[in-house]
Amino acid sequence: MPLPADYHMHTPLCRHAAGEPVEYAARAIEVGLTEIGFSDHSPMRQDNFDEWRMNADQLSEYVEKVEKARADYPQLKIRLALEVDYIPGHEDWIRELSAMYPWDYLIGSVHYVSDDWEVDHPDKLSEWRSRDKMQVWGVYFDRLTMAAESRLFDIIGHADLVKKFCFYPDRDCTPLFERFLHSAAKNNTAIELNTAGLRKECREIYPARHILNLAFTRGVRVTFGSDAHKPDEVGMDFEAAIRLARSVGYTHWSRYAGREFSYARL
Ligand code: ZN
Ligand code: FE
Ligand code: FE
Ligand code: ZN
Repeated sequence: MPLPADYHMHTPLCRHAAGEPVEYAARAIEVGLTEIGFSDHSPMRQDNFDEWRMNADQLSEYVEKVEKARADYPQLKIRLALEVDYIPGHEDWIRELSAMYPWDYLIGSVHYVSDDWEVDHPDKLSEWRSRDKMQVWGVYFDRLTMAAESRLFDIIGHADLVKKFCFYPDRDCTPLFERFLHSAAKNNTAIELNTAGLRKECREIYPARHILNLAFTRGVRVTFGSDAHKPDEVGMDFEAAIRLARSVGYTHWSRYAGREFSYARL
């Protein structure tokens, strides 16, 4: 069985990743992948919003880099995508972005729980200590739910990124997960198994088995992603992710081309 596609990979344009798309593609072939997708951090309407994404006028360069990888490695299916920050109020911008290039899919990710706090930012750990964990998790999953409801995205990225630094609430968050997954199922929005969590403090794939179980029960589709920020990370820990997906019952992953989905066997 061929490996599922690695649909979550970055490029140096986001200013915190290394290696050109051609190098990611070469690595993909080395590890036995037959399909990949670039989903670098998308620009904001305001280029100075933060310092970990490309500027809007770099989108054409991004597309060219991905096209270069396509030209150099015709034996590999290479999808063109973006990882878009979902922030309430940014919907019009996201719609504009989605019309700019022929994207194969858009990953909607929540990093921001307020206009200036990304829960996964290592320099902003002090925020965590001054906040109620349950409240942060509540806002995080509310935003994920809104992202699924918006129908702007094909896939929701790292659906429990909020656990990255192990700030877990002491109450059961199942109702938050249920509400999000209900929206994902209803709006045909997939979630990804993102192996980057294994490389972070939480030492666990995003999302946790408990969430994936609920997702399977509700019929939410899945994709796979390494969230590679360097060529070495392409396809990383896919065996573990496939094992996890199969163990909760998944037999297929979702393939995207031109924002249309089809099933592929797992
Ligand atoms: Zn990144
Ligand atoms: Fe992300
Ligand atoms: Fe990412
Ligand atoms: Zn990411």
